[in-house]
Amino acid sequence: MHAVILGAGISGLASAYYLRQQHPDWKLTLLEKDSRVGGKIHTVVQDGYLFEFGPRSIRPKGAGVHVIELAQELGLESEILLPEAVAKKRYLYLNGKLTKVPNHPLKLLLSPAAQGWWQAMRRDWSVKAGPRPDESVEAFCLRHFGRTVTENLIDPFMTGIRCGDMSRLSVQASLPSFSRLEAQYGSLIKGFFKERSRSTSVDRKNAVYQADLISFKHGLGQLVQALTDRLASKLKINTAVQKIEKNQGGFCLMLSTQQTLECDLIISTIPSHQLSGIVMDMAPALASALQKILYAPIAVVSLAYAKKAHDYQGFGYLVPHKEGQDILGVSWNEQSFRQHAPADSNVLSVMIGGPRFKNFHVYRENNFIDMALKAARTHMGITQKPAIQQCRILTHALPQYNLGHNQIVQDIRRHTPKNFYVLGNFIDGVGIPDIVRNAKNFCAQLKVDNVSAPQDKMLEPVHS
Ligand SMILES: Cc1cc2nc3c(=O)[nH]c(=O)nc-3n(C[C@H](O)[C@H](O)[C@H](O)COP(=O)(O)OP(=O)(O)OC[C@H]3O[C@@H](n4cnc5c(N)ncnc54)[C@H](O)[C@@H]3O)c2cc1C
Repeated sequence: MHAVILGAGISGLASAYYLRQQHPDWKLTLLEKDSRVGGKIHTVVQDGYLFEFGPRSIRPKGAGVHVIELAQELGLESEILLPEAVAKKRYLYLNGKLTKVPNHPLKLLLSPAAQGWWQAMRRDWSVKAGPRPDESVEAFCLRHFGRTVTENLIDPFMTGIRCGDMSRLSVQASLPSFSRLEAQYGSLIKGFFKERSRSTSVDRKNAVYQADLISFKHGLGQLVQALTDRLASKLKINTAVQKIEKNQGGFCLMLSTQQTLECDLIISTIPSHQLSGIVMDMAPALASALQKILYAPIAVVSLAYAKKAHDYQGFGYLVPHKEGQDILGVSWNEQSFRQHAPADSNVLSVMIGGPRFKNFHVYRENNFIDMALKAARTHMGITQKPAIQQCRILTHALPQYNLGHNQIVQDIRRHTPKNFYVLGNFIDGVGIPDIVRNAKNFCAQLKVDNVSAPQDKMLEPVHS
């Protein structure tokens, strides 16, 4: 049996790792288009500063337990970094200034960050339990919380974390736990407290599992490196798959190296828009379903200040769309993980873009850096010139789980040929924890007898 995995982002690396564990006797090839592995995970170290141009931390709770277990298996347990206590503080840019979001529910009631919270709680409490048809995140949250809380709190979360437009995101696909809580309890707040009290009693009493976030001493690239070390003999970099054809009982891949590669089974983890072009001739219905998934662009600007440049303390801040700013949010990196920057320095990561950012494609790196510097000056009063300023533009940064997303995923599953499997961050979660869980569960369920894979073309991941 020869299995080929397309793409060496975290989906491809984790799939290759678990597939090798489950089927050590199979021949395995992992193909990556770029010279660098890790995909969106992109850690760069310069002059003692550690910059993350993609994800910067992992949530260890929920599905994050699979990342911790993976890190333990890779011998990285002692390399895990816990965040500083100060990173619990979070801010919003509201009415032209940074406003702390209290982390105590009673203080929240009195905070300007949560104007209208009292009415929102009463409104949420009155929602009746029961399943409902899918709707946008905005429509759902307006029903539960009203306009002020939806615009001030939900919108920046959906733009800053998901890089999405809440009026287009599907609540069932992008916040499935919200739909589930509503179906079961009606009120989200009631459901949240009931489930929280239940889950804390079974949580593992270990600081890593209890943390809000984790990283590694050398950033998230360290996880990528450890996986790459294990898989080095299987990995081919600078090798893009350009086209796939079916042949007798398997597949033939046309590669950018002008070579062809034959295999029995394919696991694709590359972004949907890229896979779509590759399978267009072999599986047009699959290609057309894949094309329907839209991606939002992001520019990540890193600014490193050699001397203390501001007095704010916390994880960073998000900016609601109604504030009319260029940026989505800022992380104060050295305050989450002090080891990632020299003492007394400040490092900002400024996120710019999203689906509502007009004409993203006309701007260049220096334009985004200027927008980030303007935000640093006007939001935080920073006048110091950064020692390092860098920008990375991701034109297809994050897939959007918009209305209709679950139907698209069903179509992808329905039209995927036998022995061809589609994984990646456009199915069942964009976060690294979801991705690692999905890869692990997929490989555990994949049982192939005499080259024929299971009939249910795409295995449903088991959610933990
Ligand atoms: C700015 C940003 C911040 C984020 N922050 C967080 C965070 O803090 N925490 C978190 O958990 N998640 C975060 N995420 C989400 C998470 O990082 C991504 O969802 C995840 O890394 C995607 O992994 P992937 O392997 O599915 O896809 P990718 O990382 O996109 O990997 C796909 C790989 O396929 C390769 N490829 C493409 N075409 C071909 C081809 N034809 N042949 C061969 N190879 C090909 C690509 O080069 C790439 O290496 C963030 C994402 C972004 C963009």
